[in-house]
Amino acid sequence: MNICTLKNVTKRYGPRTVLDIDRLDLAPGEFFVLVGPSGSGKTTLLRIVAGLIQPTRGEVILDGRSAKGLPPHLRKIGVVFQGLALWPHMSVRGNIALGLEHVVPDAAERTRRIEETARELSIQNHLASRPTRLSGGERQRVALARALVRRPKLLLLDEPFSDLDARLRRSIARLVRDLHDQHGMSTLLITHDRTDAHLLADRIGVMKDGKLLACDRPGALYEEPGSAFVAEFLTDAAILSGRVDDDGMVQTVLGRLALTEAVEAGRTVHVAVRPDEIVVGQGPVPGRVVACEFLGGSWRCRVTVGPDEVAVLHDQPLAPGQDVQLSTPAGSRQVLRVES
Ligand code: ADP
Ligand code: MG
Repeated sequence: MNICTLKNVTKRYGPRTVLDIDRLDLAPGEFFVLVGPSGSGKTTLLRIVAGLIQPTRGEVILDGRSAKGLPPHLRKIGVVFQGLALWPHMSVRGNIALGLEHVVPDAAERTRRIEETARELSIQNHLASRPTRLSGGERQRVALARALVRRPKLLLLDEPFSDLDARLRRSIARLVRDLHDQHGMSTLLITHDRTDAHLLADRIGVMKDGKLLACDRPGALYEEPGSAFVAEFLTDAAILSGRVDDDGMVQTVLGRLALTEAVEAGRTVHVAVRPDEIVVGQGPVPGRVVACEFLGGSWRCRVTVGPDEVAVLHDQPLAPGQDVQLSTPAGSRQVLRVES
């Protein structure tokens, strides 16, 4: 049985539909990462699952039962909000205990759970402090403790790492995945960082304009993104178009590429070529470097090739204006779109 199912869920504000999900299932123990541009409806989806707002239409099923009319505190859900939403005038203990009496009526048991959770997150020495006295990483762990102290079946996290520097965000991200694995719960994490998504997710859902465009394992979306939007959003791929030849290959600025499906000769198709699929060196395709950024270990460079621009990875920096030769290893590309 799924932990959470959304069926034909829509949310409208006035005439505007901001969420329109045909179906989404979260399996027990699954770590699901929702990505998408700002305004695509991610927070709206999370708040509907948490019971903080009601859908205009459709059904939310939690643990096999309709969640209609079920108040947030009875949903067995823990939430870490965007910006954390800690109360500055309350102690860390007070923040973690907030509303817990609805879930755990026994006061001694509440104290025991708060202390156990605080130890688990290494904030046991800060229980009497105000959150404002803590570092960013510690505040993050207080917000996590407040969600986990309820022993949720489903943990919802809305861009919890966005205010942290790169090193801290990786370590907190790993902590979240470890806690998820130890507690055996399901997790729905919203992020706009695709590296977090690839690193953490069992499955990734990509949202755009209120709709779930794609939903699959990270490796599957990497190889077969299904649309130009998903390819560009998840991998920085270049979207190239070209005419299909008589032998079924497509002629692009990077040369002739094979397709995973047969397309009628003469049609124009769009395919994605990821940076890691382009080799810089002895290839047949001339390009010119536009810009180059250091990723730590490798460089990602933008290169113009004919009228197109592609991103490439290289083990050395390339100078803007430099001429380079490119090649693309053989292998079939998924057809993203066929023009009639
Ligand atoms: P995301 O989290 O992906 O950035 P949101 O779910 O917060 O997106 O918002 C989706 C869209 O719904 C946005 O365009 C936002 O302006 C709109 N929206 C969210 N809440 C309200 C509201 N209470 N009233 C009107 N529009 C809203
Ligand atoms: Mg949001």
